[in-house]
Amino acid sequence: MRIILFGPPGAGKGTHAQILSRKWQVPHLAAGDLLRSHIRELTEVGKKVKAILERGELVPDVLINELIAVELRKPVARRGFILDGYPRTLGQADALDEFLKGKNENLDVALYFKTSVDVVIDRLTGRRFCPECGANYHIRNIPPKVSGKCDRCGASLVERSDDRPETVRRRLEVYEKDTAPLLNYYQVKGFLEEVPGDFDVDELQAVLAKVLERHGVRESIR
Ligand SMILES: [Zn+2]
Repeated sequence: MRIILFGPPGAGKGTHAQILSRKWQVPHLAAGDLLRSHIRELTEVGKKVKAILERGELVPDVLINELIAVELRKPVARRGFILDGYPRTLGQADALDEFLKGKNENLDVALYFKTSVDVVIDRLTGRRFCPECGANYHIRNIPPKVSGKCDRCGASLVERSDDRPETVRRRLEVYEKDTAPLLNYYQVKGFLEEVPGDFDVDELQAVLAKVLERHGVRESIR
């Protein structure tokens, strides 16, 4: 399966990506996590990205494209991938297109998790993450064993400052505006499917199973 997930933070992409990743044995590639892990581990690319961000500049498409291409060339991605947070620009979408053409592969579907602002606010306000190792928690849904401490490394968990309700609404508007050209790009190519991000996990998994089957994902791994 080769799929792309679109949707604002809080739409449930991460949760569904993890479930699909296990079920279909394909890697979940979250562009943001990938970038953060390169920065944390101070890889060559990580150092470059860190410097760019510290100058307050945008990380150029070519750098992101190469980071993703490296992941997609790994043996673990032979059976496909779940991309999350990539592509984010039309330039990145074109680069992904070219990359897949070069491997004689096709995208199966681009899923847009359409989610309402109240649901997003409710989900995001409980999120916590570990600044040391990057692990993610949720005070109601995925609580750490010891309140406020990372299960993996024991560091104190923090709330992302942009998870506060007052900023979420604005961020959702910005997300929808920024993503519209990409959704259009995949719509024109016949890959786009809008799915209800407001649904509970099980309900949405059932919807996703049907959508994936309709796009021939079942046959593509056999
Ligand atoms: Zn940790």
